[in-house]
Amino acid sequence: MNIIIASNNQGKIREFKKMLEPLGYTVLSQSEAGINIEVEETGTTFKENATLKAEAIYNLTHTSVLADDSGLEVEFLNGEPGVYSARYMGLNNDEDRRNCILGKLQGVEESKRNARFVCCICYIDENGEKKYAEGYWTGKIATEPRGNNGFGFDPIFIPDGVNRTSAEMLPEEKNAVSHRARALAKLREMF
Ligand code: IMP
Repeated sequence: MNIIIASNNQGKIREFKKMLEPLGYTVLSQSEAGINIEVEETGTTFKENATLKAEAIYNLTHTSVLADDSGLEVEFLNGEPGVYSARYMGLNNDEDRRNCILGKLQGVEESKRNARFVCCICYIDENGEKKYAEGYWTGKIATEPRGNNGFGFDPIFIPDGVNRTSAEMLPEEKNAVSHRARALAKLREMF
C-alpha cells in the first residue's frame, strides 16, 4: 500500500520510510508523489497543523496520507519552542535554533533542563477518513550539541535513560523509542 508523507522535512521522511517500509508500505515523500507545495502551518496546536498538512495533500491526491506535526517543548521555557519548533524566533536553520535554546538555558542546572518531543500524526485513508495519534519522548536539554545523526534538535536532546543525545543514537535505536515511533505504534493499534 502507498502512503504519502505530507512533509518536505527530509529527516522526518527518512524516519517514516525506515519505520514503515519493513511493514510492507511504499512510502512516498511529497516530491516523490509529484507534489510541490509547502503547506502553511497556521494552526496553534500540533493537531491543527497535522490536519492542515494531511488535508492539503489528501485533497490533491485522494490517496493515503500521513502528516506529522512535531516539536520540542522545553519546561524552563514554558513549553517553547513547541508548535513553533520549525521556525523558532524567526531563525531559519537548525543550528541557530539549537544555539538559541542552549543560550536561553545557559547556567540552568540539570534538574531544570527537562524537555520532551511531541509528535501528532494525522492519517487520512483513501476514503478520506481521519485518524489521530500522539507520541511523547521525555528527556533533558544538553549543555552543548553532540552527535551527527537525526535532525533538528536531536544534537541537544538527551532522552531519559540514555546517556547520549538522540543525534548520537543509531537511527534504529531512535526509531524504536522516539515520539514519532510511539505515535506510529498508537496509530497502528487502531487498524
Ligand atoms: P514541523 O515540520 O512543523 O512538524 O516541525 C518540526 C520541527 O520540530 C523540526 O523542524 C525540528 O526542529 C523539531 N523536531 C521534530 N521532531 C524532531 C526529532 O525527531 N528530532 C529533532 N527535532 C525534531
